[in-house]
Amino acid sequence: MLRGARVIFSSTYLFAVPILLILLICSQFLGCPGMGPMDSGPMLESPTPLRPVRVLIGSALTSFRFSADAQVAVTDGQRERLGVCEREDWHVVEAGPRGGVRIDGRLWVGDRIGLSSGWSGPIRVSFRESDGWGEPRVYPGSLRVAVRDDGAIDLVNLVDVDRYVASVVAHEVWPSFAEEAYRAQAIVARTYVVYQMRRRSKASHDVSATQRSQVYRGIRNDVVGRRAMEATRYTSGLVCTWRDGGEDRLFSTYYSAACGGVSQSASIFGSGDDVPPLRGGVRCDYCKIAPGKSYRWGPVRMSADEVLDRLTARYSDCAELGGIASIEVIARTVGNRPVRVRIHGLSGKSKELGAERFRLALGASVIRSTDFDVRATTGEVVFENGRGFGHGLGLCQWGMQGQAAIGKRAGEILKYYFPGCRMTRVY
Ligand SMILES: [Zn+2]
Repeated sequence: MLRGARVIFSSTYLFAVPILLILLICSQFLGCPGMGPMDSGPMLESPTPLRPVRVLIGSALTSFRFSADAQVAVTDGQRERLGVCEREDWHVVEAGPRGGVRIDGRLWVGDRIGLSSGWSGPIRVSFRESDGWGEPRVYPGSLRVAVRDDGAIDLVNLVDVDRYVASVVAHEVWPSFAEEAYRAQAIVARTYVVYQMRRRSKASHDVSATQRSQVYRGIRNDVVGRRAMEATRYTSGLVCTWRDGGEDRLFSTYYSAACGGVSQSASIFGSGDDVPPLRGGVRCDYCKIAPGKSYRWGPVRMSADEVLDRLTARYSDCAELGGIASIEVIARTVGNRPVRVRIHGLSGKSKELGAERFRLALGASVIRSTDFDVRATTGEVVFENGRGFGHGLGLCQWGMQGQAAIGKRAGEILKYYFPGCRMTRVY
């Protein structure tokens, strides 16, 4: 079973920090007995807070361009300064031949090139789109350009944890949300990324910038961005943990738009997240306030041919079904949400799929959750009684807003959706 990284500092143990730091210094210089290898805890590895988060903001690129209000230093993998790019100009970076990148046509050899304007300001980045350069996004921190084995380049943004959290909050909440909802979202976004930083310390990046991880689009300079930054500062260093045999452990704080009535368990995904706060079954009608087709949706009608086409696009063996005869839910959670479906084909063959995979193949915004009734009629598949929007794991975001609107505090809200969790300070 995958277990969350151990957290060293709980808010109740803050007084122990100076003592632990003294022990750390002592162990480094005097070889104190009893300290052993340190198995986690970034504050023990460095006197500064956490290392920067490494966010993959561009993958398998052939080029991108950047600009900054200050000179941008170009460094190699050892952070040795190779040169500078002038301020304000747009500089085009392209994958170079035989390892290395070209910046404005000049080749810089190395499989990792750093771009940093120091702390004098963010860097604007724009990516190639079909009709030219896309709208620039503004990224704090620095950039790392990694040359892949196939010659393409990956672009990673190294950014302070709280700057990252503020950006995620600004893109993952609805602007109308209450202050305590912003704060709860900040704690959840921070927990998620700190958990990933612990798990993926040897990988090339910690998180991606999309919904695969959390949506991150750099700095947002508007009212929502400022409210997100305030919530991040207010909760700085706080994460969700659960108590496991006397130790605080992080867990993956999943969240989705609206649970539709009851949260589901992470265990059905078999991802090793079977920990008490993620076991699901949390009843919630607070998300009734969600607008549009979020709390309830459907009926959604799709032609059987379209269902087959969409399934086959993702799972090529579905072509053997030869058409859709019927769709059967073959496993449900205790809360009655479908977990697994079997698609019976006109050819006599059948295909089993996890309900979430089935939904995503048909379109995440069309089939808005796995909590549905489904029936196939002649030439048509109908989804009815849809409940909720998103995977329904962990925090229900509209429920969070519903609770914040009636005066609940961020900590109370998170303890409701992640049973057994507590607030712990990691920096
Ligand atoms: Zn809910």
